[in-house]
Amino acid sequence: MSLHIQSVIPAMQSRFEGPHPDAVIDNISIDSRSLQNNAGTLFFALPGQNRDGHRFITELIEKGVINFVVAYIPEGAQGRANFFLVNNTLRALQDFAAYYRGLFSFPVIAVTGSSGKTIVKEWLNYLLSPDYNIIRSPKSYNSQVGVPLSVIGINEKHNLGIFEAGISTRSEMANLEHIIKPDIGVLTNIGPAHDEGFADRQEKALEKLKLFSRVKVLICRKAEYISQIINQVPKLYTWSYEDGADVQVKKEVLATAGKTTLTILASGKHFSAEIPFTDEPSTENAINCLMVMLYLGYDEATVKERLAGLYPVELRLQVKNGINGCTIIDDSYSSDYQSLKIALDFLEQHKTHPVKTVILSDIFQSGFETDELYARVARLLSGHNISRVIGIGETISRQLADFPNFQPYATTQEFLAHNPAGSFANETILVKGARSFRFDEIVVLLEEKTHETVLEINLDAIIHNLNFYKSRLKPETKVMVMVKAFGYGSGSYEIAKALSHQKIDYLGVAFADEGIALRNAGIQTPIIVMNPENSAFAAMAAYSLEPEIYSVRELRAFIAVAQQKNLSDYPIHIKLDTGMHRLGFEAHQLDELTGLLRNNNFVKVQSIFSHLSSSDVPEFREFTLGQIVKFEQWSQQLMQALEIYPMRHILNTSGIYNYPEAQYDMVRLGIGLYGIGNDRAEQAQLQNVGTLKTVILQIKDIPAGESIGYSRRYRVTEPVRIATLPVGYADGIPRGWGNEKGYVLINGRKAVITGTISMDMMMVNITGIDCREGDTAIIFGTVPSVTEIASIMDTIPYEILTGISQRVKRVFYKE
Ligand SMILES: *Cc1c(COP(=O)(O)O)cnc(C)c1O
Repeated sequence: MSLHIQSVIPAMQSRFEGPHPDAVIDNISIDSRSLQNNAGTLFFALPGQNRDGHRFITELIEKGVINFVVAYIPEGAQGRANFFLVNNTLRALQDFAAYYRGLFSFPVIAVTGSSGKTIVKEWLNYLLSPDYNIIRSPKSYNSQVGVPLSVIGINEKHNLGIFEAGISTRSEMANLEHIIKPDIGVLTNIGPAHDEGFADRQEKALEKLKLFSRVKVLICRKAEYISQIINQVPKLYTWSYEDGADVQVKKEVLATAGKTTLTILASGKHFSAEIPFTDEPSTENAINCLMVMLYLGYDEATVKERLAGLYPVELRLQVKNGINGCTIIDDSYSSDYQSLKIALDFLEQHKTHPVKTVILSDIFQSGFETDELYARVARLLSGHNISRVIGIGETISRQLADFPNFQPYATTQEFLAHNPAGSFANETILVKGARSFRFDEIVVLLEEKTHETVLEINLDAIIHNLNFYKSRLKPETKVMVMVKAFGYGSGSYEIAKALSHQKIDYLGVAFADEGIALRNAGIQTPIIVMNPENSAFAAMAAYSLEPEIYSVRELRAFIAVAQQKNLSDYPIHIKLDTGMHRLGFEAHQLDELTGLLRNNNFVKVQSIFSHLSSSDVPEFREFTLGQIVKFEQWSQQLMQALEIYPMRHILNTSGIYNYPEAQYDMVRLGIGLYGIGNDRAEQAQLQNVGTLKTVILQIKDIPAGESIGYSRRYRVTEPVRIATLPVGYADGIPRGWGNEKGYVLINGRKAVITGTISMDMMMVNITGIDCREGDTAIIFGTVPSVTEIASIMDTIPYEILTGISQRVKRVFYKE
């Protein structure tokens, strides 16, 4: 990219002022942390709940950025840089992208639909890349921000674009159409996702079709809703399993071989092709891709050969525990320049060790000449302070030979043959390679080996849930995130880390040890310890952990330590017992407390707080309001007697939801962050965070008359097919969930748990369910939800979540 700023001023309908009217732009940025920020950058100050871009402008000017698209000029910045003033900076980013896209005229494919967008895009890229130099959306960048960022990646070398577009509500698609300007449309399907943003499915279909208002052809499965709105659509090229479409496809599933044969009947064509999948969503996605190939005029032999090579797409960067204390970021399925940048930023945010290693294959499809490409890669790597780079492939080995601490290997096999496992310890390793390099084998080698049950934690969902609760609070209200009990079983350190860019004011843990572990992992956020033991006070002071003070005895002990260690104004948090009757000062103790704190310089009251016993129970509303009144009175009494103005806080998750008027200066968010709401309406706003998954170890057919499991609790009356799963009560599955009470989900179907749950295993009934050994079983997630299990087990979701054993591996991911 090389654009004179005078040409972009009108494109964004902006008003320009600034000292550098001749500046030239060679990249854009929306993130102040991005390492490309420099004199050639055009920075868009996007609004955001936590990171309003305008707040970072002065800092960026000091780093040498001179071009900013803004809604207003921040104080003190006037005259120090170029400003493009607009009404709406997101809109300006979109207009900029649309203008930039307009400078290129090669064909562009746009993909939308309720599901399958990213897979179809990735597959099309795989199927067409032997013949085109393709620019495509990285990962699933398909939103109002993601699409412009994808389009801005175009350069002179590309000759085909594949972009995906996603919408969640009305009128977004027209924006995306304007940016992508597609020639060929692919509509994957219209399903229930995002129904809430639309009046009905037809309205949603109409909205999606706006993406295709100017295409030459729209490729899709023949469906009722399309014919109903047919006059809105341009030329159609449709397929169907029935006749009546342009292409008829017959499918035959070969379950044991794990394949499906497609027989294709189109005008003048009749042939079969195999795809290596048996499930319907993959088949539908593959057929949509096949349609694009037919439309582009590919011959039968090429279509057959390439469809047979389709592969499962891993859509996300996964964080895994590695051997020897390493952390692995697994991006072993793609290698292109765009996604390398994303992966390096992700590495920076998720690194758990100062030492960062990158294992990288040859890079394909950058649109740059080889020398220029690797010069850029080298700049990216050194900009991210990568300690060691292992390059695998002929080209990268040659091109990065002079890079500091570079280790070249010609092939993945050569690298693996070196027995490399021992050379990794206590570092964060990004594994990123093109599919053909089979870097999944490297990941297997470097991954910590435990048993095959994992608790997957969706870090995006955590951020979504945080923002949902924040949206119900005043902007200035602070947030403490409770990560006690290993982050409610989800992993406290990783969650603290994922939230470190989200403006969290405090973290809450139960014991000093939990806080020390967070500090050792590099977390700098203030931490409050809810049940500090006197014996841990000295360690707490050493690690800057702030105690909850709930009794006179405890306060005296803490002051003694503070005195001995020569501390002054050490922050403490006074807990009042307004009705929970667990820990805390009662009314009659306030005078004594005041006496101890008055003129005491060793400690400083950082906050006064209390805890609601029943904020989730509507029938105790009066009681709860009574707790809040007591809290107001008692905290006032302390503040006046001591002439102090500390923060005050009383709300937990359901308190935030039900009593927002009592938010005071801070709230303490726990269970809601982990995706559990206390009623349907609240639940509907949250995203599922944890999914406990395992795999089928063995499948058996059991005849009538036999029994299953310990104590013959399940008697087989009709022949059943069962699957054994390597997860049991020692992993934290309640034993009562067995014996036909509970179920797991296998390939979207409910498989009832038969017989008693054993310590490390359980059996489920899979009669009539299409599945094989090695398939995934979901113990909980969206379905069954932790809430459902808890209510049937007569307990609360907290107990199920925190009960998942530490031997279950936690895998963290971002979409
Ligand atoms: C655990 C805890 C919270 C969080 O409660 P949730 O119901 O999970 O939101 C808040 N405050 C205190 C003192 C706690 O112990």
